[in-house]
Amino acid sequence: MSLRWTYAGRSHIGRVRDLNEDAWLAEPAFGAFAVTDGMGGHAAGEVAARMAVEALSERLAALTADATAAAAYDALEEGILAANRAILEEAERDPRKRGMGTTVTALMLLPAGQWALGHVGDSRAYLLRDGGCRRLTEDHTVVQELVRKGHLTSEQARVHPRASVLTRALGVEPKVPVDKRGGQLLAGDRFLLCSDGLTAMLSEGRLAALAGANGTAETVTERLVEAALAAGGADNVTVVVVDVEAEEPA
Ligand code: MN
Repeated sequence: MSLRWTYAGRSHIGRVRDLNEDAWLAEPAFGAFAVTDGMGGHAAGEVAARMAVEALSERLAALTADATAAAAYDALEEGILAANRAILEEAERDPRKRGMGTTVTALMLLPAGQWALGHVGDSRAYLLRDGGCRRLTEDHTVVQELVRKGHLTSEQARVHPRASVLTRALGVEPKVPVDKRGGQLLAGDRFLLCSDGLTAMLSEGRLAALAGANGTAETVTERLVEAALAAGGADNVTVVVVDVEAEEPA
């Protein structure tokens, strides 16, 4: 069975911040989607987030339509590491950009029927399937470490004042471990990629209900962004929704 996908994406500055330092990528022609969330003074976070999207897009565009999942993992890792190098070099070149960095959560959908993810930081990916909502990424944050050790619940971590302190990001060290995972694609799958400006504002239950509701990728994206804004919009909010469908026979 051949699969196709529809998608929508939106990034909103939120209700509090002066800058939007999130970015997102959608290249449906080659099945690449990503969310990045930049950090750093003098608007450098915005630069880092955009550089990551560009480096990824360049690397993923080079994948052929018959690429295997293994090739997609390599491309995701190479794209993320290329982004890391580019950000470090740019920060070295321009002192005002010292310390800039970004998260990256990147999804590849392969026509052969697989999905592959590459991930660094605290942006997230979810898979909605069979009425369930499964988180596909682990936050690289100090509070997530505490959740893993059983010192905090994930709800406590979500509303923790230091929830956004990262343990891993692009732009910090020349080498950064990239989390990778993947699986089979099924018709009816919905993927959600988002920045922490969404997940910090909504409980997991509310997020799952809104993301899993009926509607097009466009209306679901819109509802999620609006819900984050209604909940305070304390950070930039970025949402990408991708719906996987069976291709109609010609
Ligand atoms: Mn953020």
